[in-house]
Amino acid sequence: MTNKAPARALISRRAFEQNVAVVRHHTTSKLMAIVKANGYGHGVELIAQWAWEAGIDWLGLAQLNEALALRQTHTHGHILAWIFAPGSDFQRAIEQNIDLSVGATWAIDEIAAAARACGRPARIHIKVDTGMTRGGFDLDQLPSVFARVKALAAEGIVDIIGLWSHLACADDPRSDAATTEQVECFEAAREYARQAGVTIPLCHLAASSGILWHPQTHYDMVRPGIVLYGLSPNPQCATASDLGLEPLMTLEADVILTREVPSGVGVSYGHTHITDQPTRLAVVPVGYADGISRHASNTLSVTLNGDQAPIRGVVCMDQFVVEAPTAQAGDTAVLFGPHKHGYLTADDWAEKTDTINYEIFCNLGPRIPRIPVD
Ligand SMILES: *Cc1c(COP(=O)(O)O)cnc(C)c1O
Repeated sequence: MTNKAPARALISRRAFEQNVAVVRHHTTSKLMAIVKANGYGHGVELIAQWAWEAGIDWLGLAQLNEALALRQTHTHGHILAWIFAPGSDFQRAIEQNIDLSVGATWAIDEIAAAARACGRPARIHIKVDTGMTRGGFDLDQLPSVFARVKALAAEGIVDIIGLWSHLACADDPRSDAATTEQVECFEAAREYARQAGVTIPLCHLAASSGILWHPQTHYDMVRPGIVLYGLSPNPQCATASDLGLEPLMTLEADVILTREVPSGVGVSYGHTHITDQPTRLAVVPVGYADGISRHASNTLSVTLNGDQAPIRGVVCMDQFVVEAPTAQAGDTAVLFGPHKHGYLTADDWAEKTDTINYEIFCNLGPRIPRIPVD
């Protein structure tokens, strides 16, 4: 018999489908579901499968290694990868039908060499830096890049699939200026392609916040990440509920022990909490090794038997302690989940631990099984 995991992430398929519907309500462009970092911590294979079944035939992952790993089970549909170092196994990528982002001259050199070696064209998306100042070609490099890839395409070494970029400041719906500049730059890149006589089947620019708040960025395809997982890219501007999104994940753990302690007792490492009255404490078996921030110490709470049970003392590697007058061993503590069930949300955890909701999910460790529900 395998033991039941003491802490689990329940992942709702119904919520996923609802979020896909929200995205489709905002755009008629093709969708590339972003499933990097283990599907934002939700389980990449699960989310990839659900995306496929929802009619999404493009997946985006950051690292080439993530893309290759997913390709083992996800044999259908398109997969784009954009993070890899010089010397990567591009031949394997081409053979496994992984689309590759090309945003540096060395990448053209290496990918073209790999395509020659395996006798198959590489499917490439040319990445242009329109203002993120991170990856991609600068605008002034594009004339020579397009000339080069056009020649490679004529030789059958590359298939030019996409031209793409990423927005830096789209998460503020009220301020369009930076996004407008990026769109103008992207338009200039498209114009260079036209002048070079290069046809681009798919232009793509928008992630979640572009999808929600900047329709002029949608082009042929959009790349939703956080919205598919049911969170807002900027909860200060619009909450998940405002947007009709529903979080997929409920993070729960079983209480493994309760104890009654008198007043004046120090709790957990360093005794950062001292009880001020006789108190019932409960031990929750999840900790910072699982991605639960130590900033939650003495700050956040879990839902236990319908009440908020505050974390007392510091979060340890594998467990923390809460104050819970009615708790019993075996009760379920919910750290975060959908607001409509009365749980704290990943947004609440992000706010109180000084980060963004994305990081709350991505930090969740491998000891926590992801269990599909609904
Ligand atoms: C992560 C990522 C996305 C998705 O971003 P969200 O804000 O989660 O929608 C899209 N495109 C690129 C290039 C990314 O790195």
